[in-house]
Amino acid sequence: MSIKSTILGFPRMGSDRQLKKLVEGFWSGKVTEQELADGSKQLRADHWALQASYGLTELPVGDFSYYDHVLDAAFAAGIIPERYQQVDNSGTQAYFAMGRGLQNKAIGIDVPSLEMKKWFDTNYHYMVPEVADDQTFSLHSTKVVDEFKEAQALGYTARPVVLGPVSLLALSKTAKGSSTKPLEHLAKLLPVYVELFGLLAAAGAEWVQVDEPVLSLDLDAAVYQPAFAQAYTELAQVAGLKYLLTSYFGRLGDNLSWAAALPVHGIHLDLVRGSADLDDALELIPTDKVISAGLINGRNIWKANLDKQLATLVKIIGARQSAAPVWVNSSCSLLHSPHSLKPEAGHLDQETLGWLSFAEEKVEEVAILAAAITDRDSVAEQLQRNAANVLSRQQSERITRPAVQQRLAALDESSYTRQAAFNVRQAVQRETLKLPLFPTTTIGSFPQTAEVRKARAQFRKGALSQEEYLQFLDAETRKCIEWQDEAGLDVLVHGEFERTDMVEFFGEHLEGFVFTKRGWVQSYGSRCVKPPVIFGDVSRPNAMTVDVAKFAQSCSPNKPVKGMLTGPVTILQWSFVRDDQPRSQTAGQIALAIRDEVVDLEAAGIRVIQVDEPAIREGLPLRKADYEAYLKWSVDVFRLATTGVRNETQIHTHFCYSDFNEIFTAIKSLDADVITIENSKSDLKLLGALEVHGYAAEIGPGLYDIHSPRVPSVEEMAARFAALQKYIPAENLWANPDCGLKTRGWPEVKESLTNLVAVAVAARKAHAA
Ligand SMILES: [Zn+2]
Repeated sequence: MSIKSTILGFPRMGSDRQLKKLVEGFWSGKVTEQELADGSKQLRADHWALQASYGLTELPVGDFSYYDHVLDAAFAAGIIPERYQQVDNSGTQAYFAMGRGLQNKAIGIDVPSLEMKKWFDTNYHYMVPEVADDQTFSLHSTKVVDEFKEAQALGYTARPVVLGPVSLLALSKTAKGSSTKPLEHLAKLLPVYVELFGLLAAAGAEWVQVDEPVLSLDLDAAVYQPAFAQAYTELAQVAGLKYLLTSYFGRLGDNLSWAAALPVHGIHLDLVRGSADLDDALELIPTDKVISAGLINGRNIWKANLDKQLATLVKIIGARQSAAPVWVNSSCSLLHSPHSLKPEAGHLDQETLGWLSFAEEKVEEVAILAAAITDRDSVAEQLQRNAANVLSRQQSERITRPAVQQRLAALDESSYTRQAAFNVRQAVQRETLKLPLFPTTTIGSFPQTAEVRKARAQFRKGALSQEEYLQFLDAETRKCIEWQDEAGLDVLVHGEFERTDMVEFFGEHLEGFVFTKRGWVQSYGSRCVKPPVIFGDVSRPNAMTVDVAKFAQSCSPNKPVKGMLTGPVTILQWSFVRDDQPRSQTAGQIALAIRDEVVDLEAAGIRVIQVDEPAIREGLPLRKADYEAYLKWSVDVFRLATTGVRNETQIHTHFCYSDFNEIFTAIKSLDADVITIENSKSDLKLLGALEVHGYAAEIGPGLYDIHSPRVPSVEEMAARFAALQKYIPAENLWANPDCGLKTRGWPEVKESLTNLVAVAVAARKAHAA
């Protein structure tokens, strides 16, 4: 028997981030619209050729995007807010304006982009469409039809990929000034899908992949069941098309019973993260429907255990005897995997290479599974090699560090608790730190100027010796601290000129991490990140930041300089994490390493230490039932990292979001002495949370937005500060910006912080009066 082999989608950027270069070249005027189109067409052709070379029998098309697939879907359905309709609509200008904003004085246009939001629990961000009360829909782009024809002309069997109508609306937001929920507009949207799918059928498409990833969320069945039924009943009327309904990133769970009954021709199951669904799915999915078995993990970089996945596949096929066929698929789109392992040869050692699988290798894994069903002997050698690689990772001595495991297992309650309660610590810290009322500080980083980046590049190339580079960094740090002191800030920072990235820096200093050469993954638009790979038990061979912190403190005889660290959950969240032990355990190991660093910083005379956890909220599981367990261990590892110090040492943490109602209780449990938090863009949300939940420790809600070069006036920040004083006792309130200042220029940073200090000084006077 032969079996269909396919993937849900392929990374768009290209083996060498060609798409990034094309679109950024286009934005800067160096690449014409035609060159962008031609380059992208070549990229698609290359990616299809690669998939076909491994023997996939059907290829996804329409998964390509200049910027974002949700933006593509909204644009195609004509969901274009009014403010973009003044932009030239003939080419890509309106599309890119929605993605990244457009400021063009010559034609008098200044529109910000759509809001950006995380795509489920991945590190990809999508553009949030806005649906207005009087929203109209119309087929505005035939991109997916054109790309289908492109693949067809090249001789491939292709399956168009479209974001489904229910998910498109569920992921949208109500436009400003409107009140209807986007999903209420479903009936008006469906004719556009019918029209589009009619074009696909006319072009010769047999199957269409309709992505409805909201099915992996907690859905109100009373709302969503009828919405899905309405949508798919209407789409079923398009003659000649078959629909593969896909959902990924988790189990369908309680949505499975009704989703299985929808009038579609196949249902995809994420059998990596949603394998718990399998038995129910085999029972509930009618026998006339195809089951697409998502057996190869699209969002982590470990080689699949093919024997194990093959056993699952055999089980499904066995259970479906005379039913519709079974397909082999990736669990989700490979968008979340780096392009190919090939460039890593010679960069990573042979053993590590054998453990990894990027998008290209995952395509091969899918093909091997399918081939094994048809003729196991034909892939006996590949299966054997896979088994050897899987075993090598299980047994490698590089993975395990018994001392770390024993230390983690032996911890008791005292390792998670400060010596005294917050109010005791606060009194001691006031005595020793001698900070004024409304202390001022910054979040950590100062501008990474062209000069700083140039010195780093020269050091990496060897043009600058280690000694010369360190001297350069010391000089920058000293300048930065002297400026902060003169400006009147109270708790200073060293500026982080030595760091490129808040996770990479620590990963490079810890055991258990490897770094790829070209393991880029799209984060949003043209931006890519290169996450570190955590392959083994984590330990800290040497202190990571103590020398820098000591030097920085020596530049400031009178004021404390903060030690700056990244927290365990954030390091975990922004890495590719090993899958052979629970994430909580890996986080615990990272926490021990950070704990040792915190204790060493204290011993070196650092009196204020900040452990950033901007990613705690984004690590929240997709289903509410899983929140509690996650929040419990993420709070635990933060406490493990930070509670090894004396009462005198002030622990700060920082969060980059203000929509934290769901995790407020967890934030309180962190037991930090001071939290600084992004706030300036949404005062009300934060204040509302403070009012509901109360907050007894010290807190610095950001007084201005650092994402813009705009300099906030004294009056503007003073008004915000006055509002905060109504909710937060004066003795607990700090004055600080929203976030780090790395991406800003020095002139605006100096002006903004000078104004910020003026706000605090005036507030102190007013308070004393
Ligand atoms: Zn931040």
